[in-house]
Amino acid sequence: MWRMVWREILDAVYPKRCPICNEILVPKDRKICSICSEELPVLMEPRCKKCSKPVLAEEQEYCFDCVKKQHHYTRGFACFLYNEKLKKSLSEFKYHAKKEYAEFYVDYMVSNLGDWIYKTKAEVLIPIPLHKNKYKQRGFNQAQLLAEGLSKALSIPVDTKLLVRTMDTKPQKKLDNKERMKNLEKAFSVSTNVKKSEELFPYKRVILVDDIYTTGSTIEACTNVLQKAGCLEVFFVTVCIGNGF
Ligand SMILES: [Zn+2]
Ligand SMILES: [Zn+2]
Repeated sequence: MWRMVWREILDAVYPKRCPICNEILVPKDRKICSICSEELPVLMEPRCKKCSKPVLAEEQEYCFDCVKKQHHYTRGFACFLYNEKLKKSLSEFKYHAKKEYAEFYVDYMVSNLGDWIYKTKAEVLIPIPLHKNKYKQRGFNQAQLLAEGLSKALSIPVDTKLLVRTMDTKPQKKLDNKERMKNLEKAFSVSTNVKKSEELFPYKRVILVDDIYTTGSTIEACTNVLQKAGCLEVFFVTVCIGNGF
């Protein structure tokens, strides 16, 4: 009885909000408001066969980005296009500590990408790490919350120790693509424990998890670092992705 009263008080003080537009949900057991549910920018075919960005025509196998850059990861999928709505939602999630939004994203990823995730035969999920200063500032790593949610639902372990972000780099506009990539790669490394043990790299296949894929440079930098350390194949999943044309 008291538990129910307490629940009602909590619901009144902290009503459940739509993870996309942040409006109060009515009825409260909805996962997302009716407007957002209709306007969700779900990615549809035709999509790039490498990064899953939408492309203009069915005949176009890869997006311009993937043709130009020849990424080293095997393949990856996102759920939504990064439009204004999703931009606002992700920013609430990351910068205003709306950690509960992870639940909606994870549910969506599990039901839409779960089968594909199993097919990759990846042994582990690795969230894109934050630099420790940023982690302290934010209090959590949004990619880790997503990876942990996926892990629970799909029974694939998460490794948050192997890949570390050693430098908090900002994109440098003066550098060309190649130099920028080199710089970004220097920002990530595999933990010294793995290096010291001189054992074989612990995984053959990994899935990188992040909230957003824009140019793909972060995923690519992490892929290169993992592959240099001995990982065979790298895949990725993200909540959102930028446009491919
Ligand atoms: Zn909404
Ligand atoms: Zn692509």
